[in-house]
Amino acid sequence: MRRISIFGATGSIGQNTLDLVRRDKKSYKIVALTGGRNIAQLVRDAREFHPDVVVTAFPELLPALKEGVSGLKIEAAAGGLAICEAADRPADWIMSAIVGIAGLAPSLNAVRQGATLALANKESLVTAGPLLLAQAAEHGAVVLPVDSEHSAVFQALLGEDIASVERIIITASGGAFRDWPQADLAHATPAQAQTHPNWLMGRRITIDSASMFNKAMELIETKEFFCIDEAKIETIIHPESLIHAIVGFNDGGMMAHVGAPDMRHAIGFALNHPKRQHLDVARLDFTTIGQFRFFAADEARYPALRLAREVMCKGHLWGAAFNAAKEVALDRFIVSDIGFLDMAQVVEAVLRELDHVGDLNTVSRDLQDILQVDQATRELARTLDV
Ligand code: NAD
Ligand code: MG
Repeated sequence: MRRISIFGATGSIGQNTLDLVRRDKKSYKIVALTGGRNIAQLVRDAREFHPDVVVTAFPELLPALKEGVSGLKIEAAAGGLAICEAADRPADWIMSAIVGIAGLAPSLNAVRQGATLALANKESLVTAGPLLLAQAAEHGAVVLPVDSEHSAVFQALLGEDIASVERIIITASGGAFRDWPQADLAHATPAQAQTHPNWLMGRRITIDSASMFNKAMELIETKEFFCIDEAKIETIIHPESLIHAIVGFNDGGMMAHVGAPDMRHAIGFALNHPKRQHLDVARLDFTTIGQFRFFAADEARYPALRLAREVMCKGHLWGAAFNAAKEVALDRFIVSDIGFLDMAQVVEAVLRELDHVGDLNTVSRDLQDILQVDQATRELARTLDV
């Protein structure tokens, strides 16, 4: 029986993971499930899957969580530290699906205990890619990407030599505003931004898809995970979201990964790796699809992509700053403090301001370095006027 833990169990990725586990319950022992404010969901999952421990990120919700699991012989805990401790509990496979920088510490703990880390939390790679992968190598942990594009690249690279890769093309749906005239974007509301044409995901990543900050994060994620030169990484708009990534090799051949926009494919691939197992997700009928469309991703329309290039070139702690500025800009957009287009302006202004701070150009030695940059950048991004 495999011991597994799911961080961010109540979210979109977490629920899709539990959906796969539910189909084969006898094969798994659940060690830890963690969530945030949705205690009702966390309690439902705890009652169904009987983990050793359930944790909410928010201490004020601990009484409700305790009451929900009382009489079940399930430990209940709360707070960031308790989440990290849960990631220390021995497990064979750990899903990192908390949203935001809060997912980094549990990802690090997971690899330090040598578990296989299924990594949906892209912030872990963007803020701390080299550190996470070095720790994984040191402790013999396998890291498997769960972001659909990166799972696609990983699959296209199976049996290949990364040295023969000429280009990696990460596709983008274009998000909620793909077909909007540029002039209308300034007035786009959070409610309009949180509908996705193809994927059903958490609110934050859905808005990031509309602004292309999600794709910007994914370009950095590609560089960090595959350790590939940024000049070889491209993005292209593909409205159907059926081709998730394309890898081009030095002999002119290309491998494209095609599949339905359903995260259970990438999650299931990581769960069953190195084997493939039957998965009951939608199969594609190419005659019904008819065509795949592609458009250039215009960096003038999507400044997030331009900023990602800058961050990839600079490396070091710039990813941590970029992510923190983006998270705060998104928070400010969600509460209507700033407009849709202002998000990129806030991030750019923060990066310009930080240009004067030399210590971002140093190697991140540990989590503390990254969290310090994260905090300092957040303060700046909160107060900046655009
Ligand atoms: P979500 O908002 O649906 O779920 C987030 C989870 O994190 C929830 O369980 C929530 O309770 C928990 N959480 C929120 N704040 C927390 C905090 N401060 N501390 C601890 N836990 C906290 O998000 P999601 O869409 O499932 O995305 C999760 C991660 O996976 C993100 O990094 C996202 O970019 C990445 N990802 C998601 C998808 C997708 O299809 N949803 C695809 C690729 C990558
Ligand atoms: Mg993705």
